[in-house]
Amino acid sequence: MKRCAKCSQKAVVYLPHHRIALCKEHYIEWFERRVERTIREFRMFSKEDRVLVAVSGGKDSLSLWHALHKLGYQADGLYINLGIGEYSKLSEEKAKKFAQGLGRTLHVIRLKDLVEDIPTLKEIEKRPACSVCGNLKRYYMNKSAKELGFSVIATGHNLDDESATLMGNVLSWNLGYLRRQYPVLKEGNGFVKKVKPLCLITEKESALYALLSGIDFVEEECPYSVGASSIEYKLLLSQIEERSPGTKLRFYLEFLRKVQPLLRREEKLELKPCSICGEPTSGDVCTVCRLKQRLTLSEKGQGS
Ligand SMILES: [Zn+2]
Ligand SMILES: [Zn+2]
Repeated sequence: MKRCAKCSQKAVVYLPHHRIALCKEHYIEWFERRVERTIREFRMFSKEDRVLVAVSGGKDSLSLWHALHKLGYQADGLYINLGIGEYSKLSEEKAKKFAQGLGRTLHVIRLKDLVEDIPTLKEIEKRPACSVCGNLKRYYMNKSAKELGFSVIATGHNLDDESATLMGNVLSWNLGYLRRQYPVLKEGNGFVKKVKPLCLITEKESALYALLSGIDFVEEECPYSVGASSIEYKLLLSQIEERSPGTKLRFYLEFLRKVQPLLRREEKLELKPCSICGEPTSGDVCTVCRLKQRLTLSEKGQGS
């Protein structure tokens, strides 16, 4: 095994794309510095901001929350219970325990109380659970942040997530999504600022940080995510990465540097408040209110 580049003790990790070997202590330091640098480089937030971390109970969101707390940011958590059986029960437990350990507040909301749980919605909606779920999470994250007085929402999306999404969007040249694929989405039009401080950290790196920091996280993936195309793209990108380390980071960073500025110059966002709930939407009624309308209709249908 190699020796740590900082202290020459036995290294616990070698990061091929950064060509550096590190011991436990210096890996933790490296990780937190990288998060801090990402926050500064993309002007995500400062120590004065109140940050709401979207917590799923998985390694990424808990590593993010842990690192932000250690770096001295004011970060509280938001856990959205999706009502997916054991998976949700376990992840809520882990998130709550973790918040206690940090000594920070975890806000908990339940989809079942607000709309309906994901398994029920999956039955009724007849479209992939992940798209319904993504919609609802974005909506309630934004709404909760405003109600609770947070100016920034931070999510645990990592480099693997971002490069896989990028690959999907590039394969179909989805310009609308590509335009919005940036680690900082500014506030305005009823939206709270949204940031991804782990966007330059790989999945392996965040898992290792969680392990070395003694974070107890849910290892199971959401049962509905099986077979999602993003998982296919992650696998493909990791195969390329293994052969030529640094590809993932380059693919994502060069997109941000070279393509994103061109796309954003043409940005036209015409959003207005939803006529029912007041949250921002491009139509007249937002997707969540439309979903709720469909639910009421189907309930009435069942009743008669
Ligand atoms: Zn060291
Ligand atoms: Zn609405």
